[in-house]
Amino acid sequence: MKVHNVEMVISAVRPDQYPEDGLPEFALAGRSNVGKSSFINRMIGRKALARISSKPGKTQTLNFYKIEEQLFFVDVPGYGYAKVSKSEREAWGKMIERYLTGRHELKAVVQIIDLRHPPTADDRMMYDFLKHYNIPCIIIATKADKIPKGKWDKHKKIVKETLDMEKGDPLIVFSSETGLGFEEAWRIIESKM
Ligand code: GDP
Repeated sequence: MKVHNVEMVISAVRPDQYPEDGLPEFALAGRSNVGKSSFINRMIGRKALARISSKPGKTQTLNFYKIEEQLFFVDVPGYGYAKVSKSEREAWGKMIERYLTGRHELKAVVQIIDLRHPPTADDRMMYDFLKHYNIPCIIIATKADKIPKGKWDKHKKIVKETLDMEKGDPLIVFSSETGLGFEEAWRIIESKM
């Protein structure tokens, strides 16, 4: 998709604040600092629409970006940030869980992981959660530019094994730096709209 028009519609914490357009939604989830904002910005062709986090784990709202009047990207606050309190984490969990499990417009979760390292326990928990609730997911393994191309396959294999990924789930090697994976990511998202 060629993106010209993006509008940040709302930061929501409760269902009554979600948009009512009925457009398909794609939630973006990932560990703090994994490269989620950079992924969003690359996909929508902006330098800094989705704020690149200076304080990891700071955004605690669901941010709805309307794209080309056709779909929403829903930026979910990063998980696994060690410095938030237990009560903050619980509030986070409830808000996300309510959205992910109860939102009819949600077509898939785009889960961002770091291709360089095996998925963490938090990454696994998120993936297992999606599987448990039968929520379609697309795995984006980003920061691919940081490792040599010859190692991508080996790292992909580690990602698949560590998450115990289902065969049909897409795994896309991505780089927000170079734009690698951009076309493929859009193709898969559009196929699920
Ligand atoms: P977020 O907390 O998940 O939203 O992560 P950010 O998008 O803010 O990225 C965290 C850091 O990783 C920033 O310094 C980015 O510039 C860097 N980064 C993100 N994606 C990539 C990538 O694909 N390649 C490289 N080399 N750096 C990246």
